[in-house]
Amino acid sequence: MDLIVIKTFDNYFLANISLTKLQDAGIECYLKDEHTVTIDPLLTNAIGGIKLVVKSDNIEAAMKLMQQFDKEYLESVQCPKCKATNFIQITKPGVGNYLTAILTWLFASYSIAPQKIYQCQSCGYESETLPVNHEQEIN
Ligand SMILES: [Zn+2]
Repeated sequence: MDLIVIKTFDNYFLANISLTKLQDAGIECYLKDEHTVTIDPLLTNAIGGIKLVVKSDNIEAAMKLMQQFDKEYLESVQCPKCKATNFIQITKPGVGNYLTAILTWLFASYSIAPQKIYQCQSCGYESETLPVNHEQEIN
């Protein structure tokens, strides 16, 4: 049985929400490296974050659900600046991609994925990581 990483997290809280939602939908899945990340957040980058792993049989259903969750979560997150819930995910043009291109050239194994950032459509606030919705965290 092949196991596939469908998403990586640098946030224990978000990783667990996603895990629970997939499990609720009847998809067998688990988190890899969650304990390492929780114990020492500095190691998160070194080991590539918390990995959400599913069986290859379930990959399509899981991906579909994750996209839906991401969208719902994005719509529920409040902008720390203007308090609007109006975030979208965009690909950052310019320096980020330029640097990625150089790094890709220097280290052949480096990810070629363009840099994605989150932008508030109301005030233009930008963040590389999605701001954690504190209301959800308290509940
Ligand atoms: Zn804003």
